[in-house]
Amino acid sequence: MRTGALVTAVGVLLAALAAEVLAASDVRGVRLWRAPDNTRLVFDLSGPVQHSVFTLAAPDRIVIDVTGAKLATSLDQLSLANTPITGVRSAQRSAEELRVVIDLSAPVSPKSFTLAPNQQYGHRLVVDLFDQGSAPPAAQTPSVAASAPPVPVTPTQPPPKLTPVPNGKRDIVVAIDAGHGGEDPGALSPVKGQYEKNVTLAIARELQRQINAEKGFRGELVRTGDYFIPLRKRTEIARKKGADLFVSIHADAAPRSSAFGASVYALSERGATSETARWLADAENQSDLIGGAGNVSLDDKDKMLAGVLLDLSMTASLSSSLNVGQKVLSNMGNITPLHKRRVEQAGFMVLKSPDIPSILVETGFISNPNEAKKLHTASHQQALARSITTGVKQFFHENPPPGTYVAWLRDEGKIAAGPREHVVASGESLALIAQRYQISLAALRSANKLNGDVIKVGQTLQIPATSLAAQ
Ligand SMILES: [Zn+2]
Repeated sequence: MRTGALVTAVGVLLAALAAEVLAASDVRGVRLWRAPDNTRLVFDLSGPVQHSVFTLAAPDRIVIDVTGAKLATSLDQLSLANTPITGVRSAQRSAEELRVVIDLSAPVSPKSFTLAPNQQYGHRLVVDLFDQGSAPPAAQTPSVAASAPPVPVTPTQPPPKLTPVPNGKRDIVVAIDAGHGGEDPGALSPVKGQYEKNVTLAIARELQRQINAEKGFRGELVRTGDYFIPLRKRTEIARKKGADLFVSIHADAAPRSSAFGASVYALSERGATSETARWLADAENQSDLIGGAGNVSLDDKDKMLAGVLLDLSMTASLSSSLNVGQKVLSNMGNITPLHKRRVEQAGFMVLKSPDIPSILVETGFISNPNEAKKLHTASHQQALARSITTGVKQFFHENPPPGTYVAWLRDEGKIAAGPREHVVASGESLALIAQRYQISLAALRSANKLNGDVIKVGQTLQIPATSLAAQ
């Protein structure tokens, strides 16, 4: 009797110890996202794990060994359509080792990393399977960023110079970036089952359709489906597509559900221009922390700004960003209430292309039940896209890049080379602006009814037509 009780007690103790030692984490769920060139698997875990990944050929397989884990979910519901994955199997090799085998129809290059919990998700193991022929980008993959120490921030590489064909008539390329995607849903909508990522993609697609309908313009989507793209990769995609302008589409969220209205952002020279802007910049930049680009965080904001924003080309592109932003905002004001009447400036990572004018459009507050309802309707999405298209067109009619069809139109006198507008960026003086537009300081002063040379950042100046001003 006594002995039996002791044996039982020891047995219980051993079992408890074993559980303690193994500290097994549960794999609570598996999510899958297909991007144009890779497939991402995200294992949601109850705690940290160790793992290794290796490939096997003939037939092609990926084996993921997860130490200290057991499967507490089914792998059957994953939607494998359009992926090279034909099946996902698992085996508990021992109490502490879970093996997941991914059967493939084609070889892939795997990259894997773990992510620590954030506000939205717990511990995660991420396995990216890059399609063959689309080697994982070496320096900027989420995996590298997430597992390696912070990489010093270097200005983005100069764009491949698209040599302007003399008298060429190329299209003006507008890169349209639908915010968020994949496991980063963006802001939550009070409309059931809806997320910011869906609204942004719908508006982006409509915007692309409308821009493509304009002769001399071409819209290029940065994100074409429901998958995650790190922020830096977004600007990189835009650059590869030869973008003349980068437009990132978002929907706002605020703790107060009554907040409403659209806003347009350009990059700030130094931090945010208002507390709201600062709050928003943080929330939008969190995207990479959610999606796994790890160290691409707010920490590099000042370094980045100090290094790159002082560059004159940045000042020029920032001035263009403010200009196109103001035009888009004015047009949006005709169809939807505005949150702020001026272009706001904040340190959004996605706007940090030193050479491509970039704006971020918050189409409205998805956290406001009324605006959320509107944001989900096709007619409102069309109206929003129309106002953005109009603003973009106005900007490029005034500032056509050389070698484009629109520049040719202007040179042929087919679009009025009327007065232009310039939105003052930080560090610009009236003299500098006069020089840039090759007009006299006096003409610039008189066109704007200025007595002295004092101008304010964000101020809109009328630039008189050259023929009247310079001579
Ligand atoms: Zn957003």
